[in-house]
Amino acid sequence: MATKETASSHEETKRFLVECNGCSYERSADGRLEATRIGNDHRRETGHELVAIELPPTSRNA
Ligand SMILES: [Zn+2]
Repeated sequence: MATKETASSHEETKRFLVECNGCSYERSADGRLEATRIGNDHRRETGHELVAIELPPTSRNA
């Protein structure tokens, strides 16, 4: 029995909201890697601490 599965896209891309604790910087990101990259960029520039908040799946139109 052969199971061919690649672990590349096992899940939908999660969305994150990256918020800064040091200023009003705020960004949405697709996927954890993107959120991490955004946070690292801002922290490198400013030295601020950031948090990435996972957003719920988009099931509503706001
Ligand atoms: Zn900041």
